[in-house]
Amino acid sequence: MATPARLAVEPGLGEVLVTAEDLQRRVAELGEQISRDYEARPPRPLLLVGVLKGAVFFLSDLMRFIDIPVEVDFMAVASYGSATDSSGVVRILKDLDASIEDRDVLIVEDIVDSGLTLQYLLRNLGSRNPRTLEVCALLTKPDRRKVDLPTRYVGFEIPDRFVVGYGLDHAERHRNLPFVAALES
Ligand code: 5GP
Repeated sequence: MATPARLAVEPGLGEVLVTAEDLQRRVAELGEQISRDYEARPPRPLLLVGVLKGAVFFLSDLMRFIDIPVEVDFMAVASYGSATDSSGVVRILKDLDASIEDRDVLIVEDIVDSGLTLQYLLRNLGSRNPRTLEVCALLTKPDRRKVDLPTRYVGFEIPDRFVVGYGLDHAERHRNLPFVAALES
């Protein structure tokens, strides 16, 4: 279904901030860049750590544009706080299946808002002695950032709006939109 028709059947959606075409183009660029950056890193394949659930859609598209060997694992975290503000106190709902000791690890996140969730993940995974630990975030909201973080790969910088689509939800809805749109308050 084309974008305007999709907007019409999903009430509550506002402006489209990142189109499906821009997402596919940028995800391909990130995949190529990651392939180049990690191609000379034997002996173990790059490990992509997807943060459930929001990053699943981004991760599965991104992987198809990475043309070096990769493995994938997942973590699920819940951030305490209000509906729109995370507190930085994070609970692990699902941990990784395997050790990351001595691995090249790339955290794949949907969105960095205050940065507190990612700060926790970097500290937690960093304490498990990976060989390298980097971040690939599809979206970031620089105006909301509370902590400065090394985010090596970023898809798009977006304004301070609550967004849904391409994996991002509001009360579990809208994840299946092929674009990223602001949610009307
Ligand atoms: P942070 O700890 O950086 O403030 O928040 C990160 C998490 O909050 C993200 O992984 C995501 O789950 C959620 N989040 C932050 N901003 C948005 C947004 O605009 N839309 C949606 N759907 N989730 C968001």
